Amino acid sequence: MMLPQMREKAVHRCGHCRFFVSIRGLKETRYGCVVDVKAYGNLEKRIPPVVPVLEIIKRVGLEGLERCLEKGEPEQQSCGKFRLKG
Ligand code: SF4
Repeated sequence: MMLPQMREKAVHRCGHCRFFVSIRGLKETRYGCVVDVKAYGNLEKRIPPVVPVLEIIKRVGLEGLERCLEKGEPEQQSCGKFRLKG
């Protein structure tokens, strides 16, 4: 038997998470996760589907941007912070 919350984690993918966004740079657009960008992660600020890369750099710097992009695989199994896109 699977507990309901475990089942939910097993089924969801990053691509269905509200923290999963397109990050638009000057030359390319890549996927990333903004859960660790404070204003987005604590849902203070509405999360747009496309976030300009400069907005991320302004908030969390280049290292923070790297961390966002590391979690840019839509088929990746969701983490504990998953929130279904609404
Ligand atoms: S499931 Fe976790 S890692 Fe994936 S996009 Fe959501 S918050 Fe980010």
